[in-house]
Amino acid sequence: MMTSHSSTSNLPSQPTTAPLSPTAQPDTSSAGALAKYIDLAKWEHNNDNHYQWQGTISLADLPRIDALRDPNHTATEPLAIALEICKKGEIVFWQLQTQGTLWQTCQRCLEPVAISLAVDSELALLADENHAALLEEGSEVILLDEIADDQKLWLLPMIEDELLVDLPLAPKHDDCELAITEYGDIPSVATEKDNPFAVLAGLKN
Ligand SMILES: [Zn+2]
Repeated sequence: MMTSHSSTSNLPSQPTTAPLSPTAQPDTSSAGALAKYIDLAKWEHNNDNHYQWQGTISLADLPRIDALRDPNHTATEPLAIALEICKKGEIVFWQLQTQGTLWQTCQRCLEPVAISLAVDSELALLADENHAALLEEGSEVILLDEIADDQKLWLLPMIEDELLVDLPLAPKHDDCELAITEYGDIPSVATEKDNPFAVLAGLKN
């Protein structure tokens, strides 16, 4: 089952030059590149347990996403990211918004199709599953044990995981014309099997 915000919409073939929020404003909240990881062990001893970053990254920095790119479509726009991580009490909150396009291969016509890379998520990262009781009902929860490596939260792999979950299993154009032709052809091929060729072959013997 796909999540409701999965999208296979047909974007225009020109990559958009006007990214939606959160990246419409110039980058004011953060300087430099996206951190590789957050060391949550350090957050234990700090008061300002907070990390925020806005900017763009290349899809080439996300190898598992990039591997799903249509090989005949090389032009890719960067992925716009707004990330905020903060620790309140025992719980680390992760908020991610992305905007971008991945050109995949349409599973019907095998031509490139633009797939939206739009994530808007909030996760509660828990050191202990009992902390889930502190959250509002319906909160999305991940255990830190499953994602952090020695208290380190690796940001790019986390972002990549969220993008991957949203991708369609079988990318295709919403209005792919080849599908109609294909399905129309199959019955006629099937009926020809029963046509006189079998009878002729029998007569030859
Ligand atoms: Zn197609």
